[in-house]
Amino acid sequence: MALDFQTHKYRKKPGTNLVELEKVNPYVRMGNGEDAYIYLQAGKCYAGGGEMLDLEDVPGWVWEKMKKMDHRVLKEVGWYDQLNDALIAIGDKPAEPPKKATERGKWVCKQCEEEMDKNMRLAHTMAHRREEKAAQKAKEE
Ligand SMILES: [Zn+2]
Repeated sequence: MALDFQTHKYRKKPGTNLVELEKVNPYVRMGNGEDAYIYLQAGKCYAGGGEMLDLEDVPGWVWEKMKKMDHRVLKEVGWYDQLNDALIAIGDKPAEPPKKATERGKWVCKQCEEEMDKNMRLAHTMAHRREEKAAQKAKEE
């Protein structure tokens, strides 16, 4: 598959003259100020001219940026599930255990990595603090 700048695909609704959105195929453009731009789309990596790059031809700075990329963005361009496999394939270290993309309205506790509704945040944080205090007290006694 080649790089496709037409991110929104439409089709005619069968039996009507209506047009509907069929799918969205987003891409991310990355630059480092020196090399030509690199594009990510549908789990592939493309050079500025649109030619697909083999993993070993992807510049190192692209991997570094991808490691820091928001998980939701990685997911949209099809890289979320395979970034670590690709890193291992090129002999790099995997980024970190892949984190789950946080859903809208959800919150992930940094301490125990549990995901929950945002409105549970305060109660959850307080519970951790109580545990810590209890553990501290047990140590002192
Ligand atoms: Zn927690």
